[in-house]
Amino acid sequence: MAMFSHIQAAPADPILGLGEAFKADTRANKINLGIGVYKDAKGQTPIVKAIKEAETRLLAEENTKNYLTIDGRADFNKQTQALLFGETAEIITSGRAKTAQSLGGTGALRIAAEFVKRQTNAKNVWISTPTWPNHNAIFNAVGMNIKEYRYYNKETKALDWDNLIADLSKAEEGDVVLLHGCCHNPTGIDPTPEQWETLAKMSAEKGWLPLFDFAYQGFANGLEEDAFGLRTFAKNHRELLVSSSFSKNFGLYNERVGAFTLVADNAEVANNAFSHVKTIIRVLYSNPSSHGASAVATVLADDKLRADWIAELAEMRDRIKSMRTKFVQLLKEKGATQNFDFIIAQNGMFSFSGLTPEQVDRLKEEFGIYIVRSGRINVAGITDDNIDRLCECIVQVL
Ligand code: PMP
Repeated sequence: MAMFSHIQAAPADPILGLGEAFKADTRANKINLGIGVYKDAKGQTPIVKAIKEAETRLLAEENTKNYLTIDGRADFNKQTQALLFGETAEIITSGRAKTAQSLGGTGALRIAAEFVKRQTNAKNVWISTPTWPNHNAIFNAVGMNIKEYRYYNKETKALDWDNLIADLSKAEEGDVVLLHGCCHNPTGIDPTPEQWETLAKMSAEKGWLPLFDFAYQGFANGLEEDAFGLRTFAKNHRELLVSSSFSKNFGLYNERVGAFTLVADNAEVANNAFSHVKTIIRVLYSNPSSHGASAVATVLADDKLRADWIAELAEMRDRIKSMRTKFVQLLKEKGATQNFDFIIAQNGMFSFSGLTPEQVDRLKEEFGIYIVRSGRINVAGITDDNIDRLCECIVQVL
């Protein structure tokens, strides 16, 4: 009996599928503003210099390929906690935080979902609309009930604060509330410090279990600044979960470097809970790969490499910010009558441009410009070489 012949093809991933279509496009002046990958002024995705240096050292000094432990490198896990909460945070010194190195942020989110499903009584997970589509897919995969909270106001092109609060007021005690640590994907819109304070207070009062997805630390305003939301919650909560990704801020996309962090009321509870995190990992992939996390650990342990990394991260951040300003200016100069100023204030790589699916389709078909159909633009894909043509073409479809 044929076991596979009845299987229908799965729909292509909307974002990764766009990348494939871009590759296949033979037009020389094509532009890819789809997938969220940083690109420099030349349109390249370079290896961070401090990582390259760390890799050189690793090549010379590494003397075994023995397995890592289930939770990965201990030094990397400690350094991750310091980035999240600050070097001397009570959460760390008390042993209330436990971290496992993971296969990217996606891996950390999957661990989080499995942990919540198996070890807590949480029934619902609240996810913003819109969000990174994999959030829904990951929590669906473990059979969690997904509820949505409104996040984006199409008219004002800003945070839909009133509706966000109205929706989250319905979250019950023990519900998981997924928050983007900074650089909300896809909108680029983050809560203000005051709004973070309000949310953290509300969360503590209602007894939510916050899950921070922290995939862009350092891309909004700086490593410390970007942790404001998480640290505000951490002040109010005894228990929370964090998924870290180092794909963007260390440029380590294909090395799959991330971390899952669990914060509990005290060290004993944390250790007990974490023993189940290890069981989950053992069944999923046994233990993580070494190379990317070893490179990160090497950079973070060396003052010079660390400073070089922080400077290069600032360069990436500043380049994206300057492209935002230029993009908005040039759209005006090329004749756009509608106001795109909101793009300047957004954080991180992404911008919700307000372009409609029809406009996005025309940009692809007529001009070879690739944008996600939601209108999300990867601003990091804009360079001095393509910005003129990009703005001219956008104005033609407006
Ligand atoms: N969360 C968000 C919000 C993201 O944008 C991404 C990457 N696109 C991830 C998680 C996953 O990151 P990683 O590639 O490290 O798995």
